[in-house]
Amino acid sequence: MAYEVLARKWRPKTFDDVVGQGHVTRTLAHAIEQDRIAHAYLFVGPRGIGKTTLSRILAMALNCEHGPTIHPCGECATCKAIAAGADLDVVELDAASNNKVEDIHGVLDQVQFAPTHSRFKIFILDEVHMLSVAAFNALLKTLEEPPPYVKFIFATTEGDKVLPTIVSRCQRFDLRRIATGDILGRLRLICNAERITVTNDALLAIARGSNGGLRDALSALDQLIAFKGSDLGEEDVLAVFGLVSREALETLAADILKGDVAGILRVVAAFDESGKDMRRVTAELLGHFRNLLVFQQAGAELAKQDVSAEQLAVLEEQARLAPPQRVIEIASQLSEMEARLRSALSVRTLVEMTLIRCARAARSVALDEVLRRLTALRDQTIRRLAAAAPKGPAAADAAPQRAAPAAPDAAPPPPSPPAPPRHPPPIALREPEPDDGDTDGGEWMPCEDPATGISAPHGQPAPPPVAEPLQMTDGRYADEIVNHALRLFGGRVVV
Ligand SMILES: [Zn+2]
Repeated sequence: MAYEVLARKWRPKTFDDVVGQGHVTRTLAHAIEQDRIAHAYLFVGPRGIGKTTLSRILAMALNCEHGPTIHPCGECATCKAIAAGADLDVVELDAASNNKVEDIHGVLDQVQFAPTHSRFKIFILDEVHMLSVAAFNALLKTLEEPPPYVKFIFATTEGDKVLPTIVSRCQRFDLRRIATGDILGRLRLICNAERITVTNDALLAIARGSNGGLRDALSALDQLIAFKGSDLGEEDVLAVFGLVSREALETLAADILKGDVAGILRVVAAFDESGKDMRRVTAELLGHFRNLLVFQQAGAELAKQDVSAEQLAVLEEQARLAPPQRVIEIASQLSEMEARLRSALSVRTLVEMTLIRCARAARSVALDEVLRRLTALRDQTIRRLAAAAPKGPAAADAAPQRAAPAAPDAAPPPPSPPAPPRHPPPIALREPEPDDGDTDGGEWMPCEDPATGISAPHGQPAPPPVAEPLQMTDGRYADEIVNHALRLFGGRVVV
């Protein structure tokens, strides 16, 4: 028997076999069960996700000798002929190459004749958006009121290009890209049945490369079996399709999230030297950060639709490295780079520069975040100082706004003097003196408040100056900024 490619051999034959299009198959099955079958259907969706397959299953469901049924037998002469694309009453036409008005006249001529042996005469027009306007117009009248034995099934990758007058005469179904998890499951099932030994990472690499299309995934699997036989590993997939390994991709993502520029440059150099397609790498990296964001925002339940168990564990780990807003920033930088890669003269340089920017974005601190944390610290410090204030009668009403005394063992202030005037908010900082040897201006020192001269609470000495300049753009210093502020606030809160 002649060799049959996997995509044809494993083409689904019932609605239940169709992967990832449950919203469409359920509706079609209900329509058949309730005998509410429309005279025209339009299937819209990207290539390789099951439009033609679904058209044939619908034709089989309608014309099966035991039907109409939602479980076409697949065994009767009609089912077999439809599955092979050779049934006289199911006319398949490729509208991409038969797009002229004369071709549609040929179809309309056939509409006049009743089916030879089946219930319905079914016309399947693939890539229907390619029809000329004249061809569409020739079809309109018949599509409006076809004879009761005629059914039209249209399929297209570009629903927007189909004339609205056509769409309004059809029931439209939008098929979606198949989730990675669903593709993995189908590939695993087929590999087991075909006795092919293959690792999970190899199947994942195939699924990643297929971009949501099951037919592409099966074609890739076919090619790999021809290349390597029945024992496949991830490295075989990577070698044949020029993909990068899951581990290398995740290492690069981790380096970005950690701000490890040297690590990023090492990984990019390795990709470049092994001839990886940087556009592909960028798309995959973007996909990884998209998955990370889904994990952070919606949890593992939603994220695992598109990733394997191994990937999920890595996402969980990396989700702790940066908050969602920084992941969004990284993703938007990568997205911009993806658009610019097409016209870039030096692809590697552009990739390196962008990834370094991503790494900085991952570790940078947003100003509002610094302000929020400083405000929280200020409030906390004020509460602490207020709690440590003496419980004298005069101090009682002013306690929330008053500073702590110089030392806990100091005598409480006498009640007789009037309360000092309240100063507006509380923190005063000054830059270091110019003669301290530090010329970068980035270091902040606690100041003496001339009005009060309040020293650190509990008699602590003033904090030592911070040796290293603080940079708002580098996340490593984020905690240090706050710690420094804590010391400043602890010693120099003025009320
Ligand atoms: Zn049948």
